[in-house]
Order: sequence, then C-alpha cells, then structure tokens
Amino acid sequence: MDIACYAAPGAGEALTKSTLTRRDLRANDCLIKIRWAGICHSDIHTVNGDWPHDNFPLTPGHEIIGEITEVGSDVAKFSVGDIVGIGCLVDSCQECEACQDGDENYCENGATGTYNAPDRIDGTITQGGYSTHIVCREEFLIRIPEAFSDLESHEAAAATPLLCAGITTYSPLKHWGVGPGMNVAIVGMGGLGHVAVKIASAMGADVTVLSHSKAKEEDGRKFGASDYIATGEEGWHENLKGKFNLIINTVSAPMDPAPFLSTLHRNGTMVMLGLPPKPMEIGANQLIGGRRSLAGSAIGGIPETQEMIDFCAEHGITAEAEVIPAEQINEAYERVIDSDVRYRFVIDANTI
Ligand code: NAP
Ligand code: ZN
Repeated sequence: MDIACYAAPGAGEALTKSTLTRRDLRANDCLIKIRWAGICHSDIHTVNGDWPHDNFPLTPGHEIIGEITEVGSDVAKFSVGDIVGIGCLVDSCQECEACQDGDENYCENGATGTYNAPDRIDGTITQGGYSTHIVCREEFLIRIPEAFSDLESHEAAAATPLLCAGITTYSPLKHWGVGPGMNVAIVGMGGLGHVAVKIASAMGADVTVLSHSKAKEEDGRKFGASDYIATGEEGWHENLKGKFNLIINTVSAPMDPAPFLSTLHRNGTMVMLGLPPKPMEIGANQLIGGRRSLAGSAIGGIPETQEMIDFCAEHGITAEAEVIPAEQINEAYERVIDSDVRYRFVIDANTI
C-alpha cells in the first residue's frame, strides 16, 4: 500500500512530505497504524550522512508506537487492535547463537534495522517510523503495557522513545549488574542520557550526571541523580577519582576519555553508546591502573526490550517528550544538534 511519510531526499537535505510503499503482508506480518514516532540522534546522523550510505530517499524513525490494523495468516501472538511498539530492529536470522539467546541486536548474520537496511527476503530498503503505517513480522513487535496503551494519552507519546533510548541504556545497566550500592555516572543528558538517569535510579544505583554545562542540573536531580557535575569546568574530575563502578557514555562527539576513565573505581567499566566519528586515543595506563574496562553496547534484543518497557511501566518511567507536528521535523533536528531539546522530540503521526 502507498502511504504518507517524511523522507530525506539526500544526505544533509531537509526532510519533505512524500510517499512510500509498504509491502503486502507476509504470513507472519502485522500492519501497524503509527500513532507516535520519536526522533533519535541516530536518525540525524543517518540523514546528515555522518554514517555514509546510498539509500536516499530515506524515511528514518525507530521509536514507534501504534495499533495493529491487520494481521497475516500465521500471526499467533498478536491481534487486530493490539497496541504495539517497534524499536530499532524489524528482522534477524532467528537461528544463530545470538538470536537464540534473544540478542537479535547482535545477530551473527546481521540484524535488519527498522530503516536503511535491506529486507532479508526481497532486498528492498527498510523505511522507518516517520510515516503513517509500517509492516513488521510479529517476532519483532513489543507489547505496550497497559500504563502506556491509551494511544491518545501523553504517556503513550512519552513512552515511545523507550523503544530506542530506553533499551539502549537499560541493556548495559542490566548487563553490568546495576543495583543498590553502585555508583553510576551518565555522561551526556540528552535523549538517551535522561532516560538512563531515570532507569539507573529506579534500579537502585547512586547516579551522577556528567553534563557539559550546569544548564540541566535541576532536571537531572528531578530524574533521580544525587549529584551533577559540569564537565566543561576545569578540573571537574579531580574530586571524582576512583568513584564510579560504571559510566554510561551517551556523547557522540569526540572527547578525551582520560579524565572519564580516571573517575572509574577499581574494576569499573565505561560503556560507549554514542559513536564518535573518529577513533579515540587511549593510553594503556588509563586501563591498567585499577583494572578498568572500556566497553560498548548496541541497543538490545527483543525479549530485553519487552522486559525494559514492562520495568518502565512498573516504575512510572517515560521519556520527557516534546510532541511536534511532522512539519517541524527539520527544526527539531537543528534543536537536537544544538542540545536544545528537553529531552526527546516525538512526532504526532496523525500530522503526517
Ligand atoms: P542527544 O539527545 O543529542 O544527546 C546527546 C547528548 O550528548 C547531548 O544532550 C549533550 O548532553 C551531549 N553532547 C552533545 N554534543 C556534545 C559535545 N560536542 N560535547 C559534549 N557533549 C555533547 O542524542 P541521543 O539520541 O541521546 O543519542 C546519543 C548518541 O548515541 C548518538 O550518537 C546516537 O547515534 C547514539 N545511539 C547509540 C545507540 C546504540 O545502540 N549504541 C542507540 C541509539 C543512539 P549534555 O548537554 O548533557 O552534555
Ligand atoms: Zn535510536
């Protein structure tokens, strides 16, 4: 079916209203009428050509909540009328060890992104959530908990960013065993970072925000942080040496890792979530002292995404969403780049 969307015609070009074709349902597919779509900084990197590709025109969007309006003949878990979410993935091989473990995000044969990836069956390039409808195989749908399932409520809009920002931060927090008695630092309090502060606090950790300015301090403390440090200030790390068991780094801009690594406790880990365009320079001595680790983490698998959104519903956690009509997408992109978003833009898909 032909549907309305917003698409980037080429690298660095403004998104414009356009149309795209959704495939006919395969036996295990559902058709979803999209109600809300979040704007992730990864969408902006992709549109700007920061991660070069040849798949323009392209419709981004991998934080999606909507309602199922049609199901394929073999769909077993979902029915018409169910409220579902789609995150960064729409397919994977389902057979490799990673997929078997529920780590579809690390599929050994390459998971299929919600946009900008070749479909595993017909090779067409996937198109994301800045659109009125999407088709997805049922194995990649997330059931939206009751607390967020009134599609017309602000809670539903504000839960939408959890499908990327939520799982991308929940997964490393869980993997590195965050809980009471742990000191956790969140670097960069944007879309990912502000959700990370809320989730880490709900897990019982003592949370510190490391933000480049003092501008968001009041918010950081409201989200659950007990401390807030501006990394733009000279010597910011001096009093934090050896403090953190875990640092979650959501900044994509290049940064010197040395002062951050110095704040790690013995056996501590800094996890990179943002993707700086250039390699970082690290002295082995920054890791050897204190047996520190530097790690990375990419989104999360489908079972863990379900676990994350159920956890957030139980703890009353959503993103701080600023809902916009689709015609303001380009303006929103500029504001995200300028760190002028509090804290995630969510597109009202009824305006597409
Ligand atoms: P965002 O909303 O723009 O937040 C990024 C934050 O980083 C900003 O709010 C700002 O926080 C800080 N920052 C930005 N530019 C900076 C600079 N030049 N120097 C220092 N700090 C700076 O972006 P997001 O949507 O949270 O995404 C963050 C990164 O994670 C992006 O690169 C995105 O592509 C990536 N990502 C990775 C995954 C994954 O699976 N690993 C998933 C989703 C997104 P302060 O103002 O608080 O300093
Ligand atoms: Zn994302």
